[in-house]
Amino acid sequence: MEDDEEKLLQSVALQNANSIFLARQRAEHELVRTKEALEAQTAALAKALAVTEASLEERDRARAEADRARRVAQEANEAKRRFLNMISHELRTPLGAIGGYASLLVEEINGSLSAEQRKFITRIQHNQQHLLRLVNELLDLAKIESGNSPLNLSSVSVQRVLDSVYAMIDPQARASQIRLEVRGGDPSLSFYGDGDRVEQIVLNLLSNAVKFTSAGGSVTVTTIPSSDDIHLEVRDTGVGIPVEKLDAVFEPFFQVEEAPSGKPRGTGLGLAISRELARAMRGDLTVKSVLGEGSTFTLCLPREAATPATP
Ligand code: ADP
Repeated sequence: MEDDEEKLLQSVALQNANSIFLARQRAEHELVRTKEALEAQTAALAKALAVTEASLEERDRARAEADRARRVAQEANEAKRRFLNMISHELRTPLGAIGGYASLLVEEINGSLSAEQRKFITRIQHNQQHLLRLVNELLDLAKIESGNSPLNLSSVSVQRVLDSVYAMIDPQARASQIRLEVRGGDPSLSFYGDGDRVEQIVLNLLSNAVKFTSAGGSVTVTTIPSSDDIHLEVRDTGVGIPVEKLDAVFEPFFQVEEAPSGKPRGTGLGLAISRELARAMRGDLTVKSVLGEGSTFTLCLPREAATPATP
């Protein structure tokens, strides 16, 4: 009886030892798998860390590069500003003197002039005025481009601008036998911009329209309001612009061809300045044209001040 009991106890102990052994084997196996999974996760983390570090380095490099480019641009702008100041002084001063002496000669203070001499002095005066205009426009464009020409923004009546420009351009249109028509529309319309600068743009568009239209033609200004903007359209029945040159007319110094004979020589800067100004006022200047039939320049301006961005 005791023998049987002992055998039973031995068998139970053996079974226990077996199951402990199996459990331990399972646990060890589990431990190996967990260790492997942990190692894989650690490797993935290390890889992700390396990628993050690389992209942080990349970001720092890009920042440093952007800072360097900004410094170079600032230095270039500063050099341009100094150069233009120098030009304005070095060219405007002698040009003023040339103009002054030419006027004194024309007034015959120091003796009378022959017809030939008068003709030559008139040419000197025309060229002096052209150069002075060129220098002034070049300076204007450089100042606008570099943001050194602050705009005086307010709500401005469209009618006020059109009346003022009409008075300036009408004598020129009449002298060239061109019909100038301004379709003002609603006199209460206003845009948000710099009144003097808008006058400068419209004057430039109208004098171009008159310059490039032959006698018997017409120039029409139309105001077209929309809910957000005002479009000022200057349409002429002039020579037109070839379609492949429509973009280029806004480039500084680009001229399709010489001004028609008897019309003032341009500088090729008027449209470049006008478009820069229009864009600085959150507007734009565009053109459509049919060669031989005429051109339409459209100045678009906002009606209201920009709403400040919410933080
Ligand atoms: P500018 O008139 O002083 O030459 P702009 O920048 O005002 O300079 O104009 C550039 C060129 O675009 C002009 O030389 C002319 O060839 C062309 N252009 C401008 N306006 C017109 C127009 N209304 N009709 C035909 N060509 C035009």
